[in-house]
Amino acid sequence: MAGGKLIVFSAPSGSGKTTIVQYLLKQEELNLDFSVSCTSREPRGEEIHGTDYYFISLKEFKQHIKNHDFLEWEEVYRDNFYGTLNSEIERIWAKGKNIIFDIDVVGGLRIKKKYPKETLAVFVKPPSVDELKIRLKKRKTESEEKINMRIAKASVELATAPQFDFVIENKVLETALKESKDLVLKFIKKDA
Ligand code: 5GP
Repeated sequence: MAGGKLIVFSAPSGSGKTTIVQYLLKQEELNLDFSVSCTSREPRGEEIHGTDYYFISLKEFKQHIKNHDFLEWEEVYRDNFYGTLNSEIERIWAKGKNIIFDIDVVGGLRIKKKYPKETLAVFVKPPSVDELKIRLKKRKTESEEKINMRIAKASVELATAPQFDFVIENKVLETALKESKDLVLKFIKKDA
C-alpha cells in the first residue's frame, strides 16, 4: 500500500451520497481523487466515460473478472455490473492522493475488510424509504421499473448500516456535507 487513505461512501441509491462525494472532492485540503468504477450499465443523463464511470460492455466486464483485474466487483442490479479496477487504485496512489469511493454497501464493506486500518467507511442514510422514492422520481433519469428495483434493494442495504464506521443521516444537505468533511479531515490527519 502506497500510503493514501481510502474513503468509502456507501448508501442506497438516491440517498445523496454522490452529492456529498462531489462536494468532498472540491475540498482541496482533503487531497482526494475519485475512484472511477467500471460499469456495464448504460450512461445516464450527462455522464462522461472516464469521469463518472468507465462504461464497458458486459463482455468486457466479464473478461476483467476472469483476469482478476478487480479489487472488488458486484452485480449490483441484475445484469448491471459495477467494479473497482486495481489499476484505478494504482493510478491514484501514484499521484500521492487519498481515494474516495462512491460504491454500493457490499463493495464498501469489502474494501474496509481488505484495508481495515486505511479505510474510513461511511454510510449515508436517507431520512426514509418514502423520501428516497421521491428523490429517485425527481431525478427523472430512470423508468418506474428501475426505480422500484432500487427501492427494493434499499431496504436490504439499510440493514448493513451498523457495519460501517459512521452513519450520516442526509436530512439537511448542508449539515450532512459539513459532518462528512469533518469526519474525513479527522481521519486523514490521524497518523498522517
Ligand atoms: P448508479 O447506477 O446509480 O450509478 O450506481 C448504482 C450503485 O452501484 C450505487 O450504489 C453505486 O454507488 C454503486 N457502485 C458504483 N461503482 C461501484 C463499484 O465499483 N463497486 C460496487 N460494488 N458498487 C459500485
